[in-house]
Amino acid sequence: WAKADGKARWTLFDPERNAHRMTRQALSSTLRPAVERGEFALEYQPLVGMADGAVRGVEALVRWNHPRFGTLAPNRFIGIAEEDGSIVQLGRWVLRTACHQARRWQAERPDARPLFVSVNVAVRQVWDSDLVADVAEILDETGLEPGLLQLELTESAVMGSAGRPLRALQALSGMGVRIAIDDFGTGYSNLAYLSRLPVSVLKLDGSFVRGFQDEAHPNPADEVIVEAMVCLAHRLGLTVTAECVETAGQAERLRRIGCDTGQGWWYSRPVPPSRIAALLPPAP
Ligand code: C2E
Ligand code: MG
Ligand code: MG
Ligand code: MG
Repeated sequence: WAKADGKARWTLFDPERNAHRMTRQALSSTLRPAVERGEFALEYQPLVGMADGAVRGVEALVRWNHPRFGTLAPNRFIGIAEEDGSIVQLGRWVLRTACHQARRWQAERPDARPLFVSVNVAVRQVWDSDLVADVAEILDETGLEPGLLQLELTESAVMGSAGRPLRALQALSGMGVRIAIDDFGTGYSNLAYLSRLPVSVLKLDGSFVRGFQDEAHPNPADEVIVEAMVCLAHRLGLTVTAECVETAGQAERLRRIGCDTGQGWWYSRPVPPSRIAALLPPAP
């Protein structure tokens, strides 16, 4: 009895857990007004063509400049925003801001090939909001060419996507917007199923690339798996982006295997928008 009691009390007063719960509550209650107060900012990480090393597009990654907690990475608040529904509002802000920014780079560097912008979309944005109407409105408002917008969804957002999500994907791809599957390989990884959806890009999860390590310590199993996935994806008409490319060796081996695009610290960390224009190559 005493022991069980003590255990329960210890759990109840565990200071670390308590702090975590309080932070969660504090964040959750302020997420919605924070969107209105403009406390969020986007950084952009280059997506680089493996064949020639040129920047083709950028992924928009959200940060929260919190007045009390400083800059928060998305893993601190995206889950909370999904739970309390504020992700719909935040997601709309991200989409609008990223599309405006893509147009701004076009204006700053009219000589360069226009960049595409890739925006993460949460499950709830597909299920609980009119994503198609939002995208159409934002493209119209910004004048961004639909072909320059890519939306990243996770496998779990599209698996079993009969009904609403499937219709949304079809409508978006009908508009000319590209759909990418983010963190591919971490879920059920049903390529046969994905190939029947209007998906055109697979983003291979960083965990596969991490297995490549370096030239001195290659992990043949990971390379064989990536090679097979890239081959299968290509045969199904999909292009492949490798995430988390951190070394020259990884980049070179991914290029040889046939990955189309790479993203990672080897090319660039996520940076503020002002740093992107300078990375653009001139038009061919
Ligand atoms: P993600 O979409 O898979 O984005 C890639 C993450 O990997 C980013 O983390 C990026 O900074 C990090 N990364 C890039 N290159 C490397 C590398 O070479 N090595 C390592 N170790 N990491 C690298 P970040 O910015 O912290 O974002 C984390 C996740 O938060 C994203 O994963 C995405 O799922 C989510 N997220 C970010 N922005 C948004 C958003 O606007 N909306 C939604 N719904 N989710 C977002
Ligand atoms: Mg992503
Ligand atoms: Mg990813
Ligand atoms: Mg990832």
